[in-house]
Amino acid sequence: MGDCIFCKISNDTLGTEFLYEDDTAVAFDDIHPKSKTHILIVPKKHINTIMDMEDGDENIVGHLVKISKFLAEKYSLPGYKLQFNVGESGGQEVFHIHLHMLSNSSK
Ligand code: AMP
Ligand code: ZN
Repeated sequence: MGDCIFCKISNDTLGTEFLYEDDTAVAFDDIHPKSKTHILIVPKKHINTIMDMEDGDENIVGHLVKISKFLAEKYSLPGYKLQFNVGESGGQEVFHIHLHMLSNSSK
């Protein structure tokens, strides 16, 4: 997926500061935060949208949710929202799945 921005970021070719990284996913601050804390949790595997998930990808998507728990503990966030925008009419702008983690608390 040559010109996918989140492929480039998750494969660490842009030098983005990661809040979390493992073999499957990374997390980093959204460049245009929509709340005090706005983190994107992104799989290293390119999947266009939630609607393009293949068998087995539920493990990856579940893993993204688990990473939000780790980040909440890391930054002592008392609560947060999780959001997937799915497809153009669902407000998705970057076509590489990502989980928005939004909190009114600062990290
Ligand atoms: P979505 O509308 O769900 O596709 O969300 C895409 C999100 O990615 C938006 O909140 C953007 O602000 C964010 N974004 C786009 N490019 C970057 C980037 N290079 N680094 C961090 N966040 C980005
Ligand atoms: Zn990608």
